[in-house]
Amino acid sequence: MPAKASTKPKFQRIVLKISGEALRNDKTNEAIDPVVLDRLAVELKTLQKIGTEVALVVGGGNIFRGLAGARANGTDRTTGDNMGMLATVINGLALMDRLEKAGLEVRVMSAIPMDRIAEPFIQRRATRHLERGRIVIFVAGTGNPYCTTDYAAALRANEIGAHAILKATKVDGVYDKDPMKYPDAKRYTRVSHAEALSKRLGVMDAEAFSLCEANKMPIIVFSMSTAGAIKKAVLGQPIGTVVA
Ligand code: UDP
Repeated sequence: MPAKASTKPKFQRIVLKISGEALRNDKTNEAIDPVVLDRLAVELKTLQKIGTEVALVVGGGNIFRGLAGARANGTDRTTGDNMGMLATVINGLALMDRLEKAGLEVRVMSAIPMDRIAEPFIQRRATRHLERGRIVIFVAGTGNPYCTTDYAAALRANEIGAHAILKATKVDGVYDKDPMKYPDAKRYTRVSHAEALSKRLGVMDAEAFSLCEANKMPIIVFSMSTAGAIKKAVLGQPIGTVVA
């Protein structure tokens, strides 16, 4: 009989980074696909059953990106970045709504004060929510322009003492070259921070990545559309690419 797979989480507290694009439905062109949100709710429930504490950092690229806005229509970069951060709030509220409807307890914490719709980000309060079994959704990135939500994920993961960042994307891991362009591109199953940096593998933007490297924060990159991927990553089972 095959050995029973462990259900003890390897990572007890995680930051799950969800890009805005992962929420988009490319076929219908809906910015936020409720089916994706519901699937995520199912996955997060299974994590709670094995006792993993989950904080989400959500991107906004499905709605607005500061730099792209600046390039496309001349929006001032800081204004564009503020718009991008507000886009993450929209995504975060959509997530909160679906997760709560699925029976999860959720708190949204914003890096930009907006008392009427989200709690302010306070590190001790965030960890308290996690200890009590609540899902915490961090929105508005870092609250600063010229940053990304990957950087926000790296920052928050370190602040709350997370054991890993799980980066859910549209691609199933980190490749030696762009798998969309090169059919012979090879996926890494495991790569060190140093190698990923020296080979410019583009796991995250450079600032976010160096924060993870400096603090030895493992990053697991995997596809959002693979069912059960988040749980596998948390249990330390092979999925996507592990950067550690
Ligand atoms: N942003 C920002 N500061 C932050 C995080 C995000 O200014 O700390 C802005 C930036 O304009 C970015 C946009 O918000 O382009 C959306 O975030 P991101 O591009 O990281 O989202 P994702 O690619 O994950 O969907």
